[in-house]
Amino acid sequence: MLPSDKALVPFVSVDAMMQLIHRVGLREMIEAIAIAIEADFRRWESFDKTPRVAAHSPVGVIELMPTADDAHYAFKYVNGHPRNTRDGLQTVTAFGVLADMTTGYPLLLSEMTLLTALRTAAMSALAARHLAPDPAPTMAMIGNGAQAEFQCVAMQALVGIDTVRLFDTDPAATAKCAGNLAGSGLQVIACATPEEAIEGAQIITTCTADKRNATVLSDNMVGTGVHLNAIGGDCPGKTELAAAILHRARIFVEYPDQTRIEGEIQQLAPDHPVTELWQVIAGRAPGRTDPRQITLFDSVGFAIEDFSALRVVHDKARETGLFAALDLLADPDDPRDLFGMLMRAKGA
Ligand code: NAD
Repeated sequence: MLPSDKALVPFVSVDAMMQLIHRVGLREMIEAIAIAIEADFRRWESFDKTPRVAAHSPVGVIELMPTADDAHYAFKYVNGHPRNTRDGLQTVTAFGVLADMTTGYPLLLSEMTLLTALRTAAMSALAARHLAPDPAPTMAMIGNGAQAEFQCVAMQALVGIDTVRLFDTDPAATAKCAGNLAGSGLQVIACATPEEAIEGAQIITTCTADKRNATVLSDNMVGTGVHLNAIGGDCPGKTELAAAILHRARIFVEYPDQTRIEGEIQQLAPDHPVTELWQVIAGRAPGRTDPRQITLFDSVGFAIEDFSALRVVHDKARETGLFAALDLLADPDDPRDLFGMLMRAKGA
């Protein structure tokens, strides 16, 4: 017995997502997600919000990230396991669901490993547009793993950087990143130390994976007037920046209730002042106010960004037909006859 169309859920696999991104264009897809995030951050108050629900182990974390507005509900399942790459597995993998608030039915089930890289890059670039010095032609990219190229392409597309200076403790990661960015139009400089990487950079992105309080940037490495985009510190006990840098910076966060648990600011007093980025985007709080200011986007990743990204994918998948129809929901002829549906299927 075949389910009716109303019970089939569009499913975007990794393969379909890759085709979708190429069909739309990588830059265009990142731009579309940035536009969607910007629109949703402007109506921040219309969302149900909660810090993500995390299950920790000594080697990593698995998280559920839910949010909803009046019309849609979304959640993402995501992990963070820095040691995974040693076994040929990814540090971060994800999938997610977009659902209809009226019926509660899922509208989309999607891979979100690639989508997380796109939305994290879009979010970084959106923050940098409001916070980075102008102009900001050069970015240091510290941590050259799975997220890195996406960050560079987004900063090129949305902020206009023309140069990236790469550093990773593993030179093979830097070589991979430099190779992937050849032909991007960016000038790519592989650096041997983090000090060399940040030389002359207006934007410093840290995107490393290590389950500890690391010091990827020490206080003396960060001069005035730069924008820091700190992505890798996103879990209790997992940070990248020396605390002294935080005391010199104006700090911008997604959702304080979550960032105080997970972000760089877990190193600070619970009442240390921070600015919510949505307020800057909505014009309710200033972004950078002084060219000599150090601005810090203490990025941890928030559910509304995934909600925005899933809505973009939902639209694009329908436009392109790049999805499979998944038999995910029971669809008895009589909605109350679930048992009868099961019995009729016997031997069918
Ligand atoms: P990855 O494991 O693919 O890459 C991490 C890279 O960091 C590796 O190449 C590793 O060699 C390098 N590294 C580790 N310590 C370093 C150091 N001290 N200096 C320089 N390089 C170092 O991981 P990924 O998928 O690229 O993710 C990177 C980080 O970003 C992870 O910590 C992940 O949890 C985080 N993340 C955050 C968000 C967000 O929204 N804020 C989203 C996705 C991923």
